[in-house]
Amino acid sequence: MSITITLPEKVRFIIDTLMQAGHEAYAVGGCVRDSILGRTPGDWDITTSASPTQVKSLFLRTVDTGIQHGTVTVMLEKEGFEVTTYRIDGEYEDKRRPKQVTFTSKLEEDLKRRDFTINAMAYNEEQGLIDIFGGIQDIEQRVVRCVGNPLHRFTEDALRMMRAVRFAAQLGFSIEEKTKAAITELAGNLAQISAERIQAELVKLVVSKHPEEMRTVYETGMSRVFLPEFDRMMETPQNNIFHCYNVGEHTIAAMQNIRADKTLRLAMLLHDVGKPACKKEDGQGIYHFYGHAKAGARMAEDILRRLKFDNDTISKVSSLIVWHDSIPDLQEASVRRAIHRVGLRQYPALFEVERADTLAKSGYQREERLGKIRLYREIYEDIMAKRQCLTLGDLAINGKDLIALGMEPGKEIGEMLQRLLLHVLDNPADNTPQILQNLVKTEQKSE
Ligand code: ATP
Ligand code: MG
Repeated sequence: MSITITLPEKVRFIIDTLMQAGHEAYAVGGCVRDSILGRTPGDWDITTSASPTQVKSLFLRTVDTGIQHGTVTVMLEKEGFEVTTYRIDGEYEDKRRPKQVTFTSKLEEDLKRRDFTINAMAYNEEQGLIDIFGGIQDIEQRVVRCVGNPLHRFTEDALRMMRAVRFAAQLGFSIEEKTKAAITELAGNLAQISAERIQAELVKLVVSKHPEEMRTVYETGMSRVFLPEFDRMMETPQNNIFHCYNVGEHTIAAMQNIRADKTLRLAMLLHDVGKPACKKEDGQGIYHFYGHAKAGARMAEDILRRLKFDNDTISKVSSLIVWHDSIPDLQEASVRRAIHRVGLRQYPALFEVERADTLAKSGYQREERLGKIRLYREIYEDIMAKRQCLTLGDLAINGKDLIALGMEPGKEIGEMLQRLLLHVLDNPADNTPQILQNLVKTEQKSE
């Protein structure tokens, strides 16, 4: 079977330019894999026998992105393409990255250093597909398999273990048996990998088509190293009528039930992380988890900080977790108060979280709960459509107006505005300057 890949114009130009100067050049790695799979490649990487200096001399605009590792970025009309010289990775000094790389003139050597067979293929129009390690066969059999001995390859770079599961999750592949056994054996080595690199792979995994691969992360012993809280969830049963899974399996189902968005998937991953610590058994042997949302939000903050997530992600995820389990009375006024309490920013993601959570439980009272969430959302949308007052900024009067009414500047002003806001949340029609001024005057008289 011969495989043809349509290279983008610019990639063809770079490869042609290098070849016309007497060098070898190929598209390589993820772009070849994705093209064969009919997926749109994220970026096109090029591998070449030319040295970085030679690459730089052949193109007008280049950037030295990783020149010591042989990578030069070729710029074509604002678009950058990484062109990397064939290399052999030297000794791995700290199981993280090679201490030094050696350039080589052999494509095979360069392909050999790559992590998985599906990532170790090269292609150009002249030579066609170069597949030395059975990448095509593994694509056909849908497996992630190490190039060479998996124990060696994971010992060289422990991050590859997380990459294996991440690719399995993105592509819907399974992990080849020996590769998986090696991960199980060496999972502990992940402790040597920086939180940033683990985070990047974890995010790709959780936003993939198969977030259930978190189960593999647990089964191989990797989560124990960087997310032991997930192991505790996997090991916490929920003996109550609302649940048919343990906390971890429920968590996995909840991730599958929500859109592939980073914040939403992370929120589902951690929404019940407080449960193991909050578990209480009553006289009938039924488990309760009172307070788990609040406790879980705090834990999620610590976990995400430990994994070096940015503050914006941490605050969005943790505030979805605090509120994931609470639905107010379904009256307009209570919903307005809830929006005020929870903060507008959390909506409508909160409805998605509540729905995904509900769908991951036993069928008991599911329809009632889903109906409630729908109604909650309708009332919210109605409130938004009517542009009702929900924040201090929406009030028809402000601090200056209160001073004009004779109030002293100071903290009483803020307190008065808060009282007016609570009043208006219950009585939206009262949000006019006239009515609010009268309310203030009445309060002033009664003092
Ligand atoms: P993505 O779609 O996530 O970009 P990718 O396959 O392009 O997937 P990259 O991380 O961009 O993955 O790496 C590009 C290529 O470099 C890989 O296909 C693989 O051949 C090689 N590679 C990347 N990281 C490693 C590693 N840790 N060990 C060995 N080879 C690696
Ligand atoms: Mg890539």
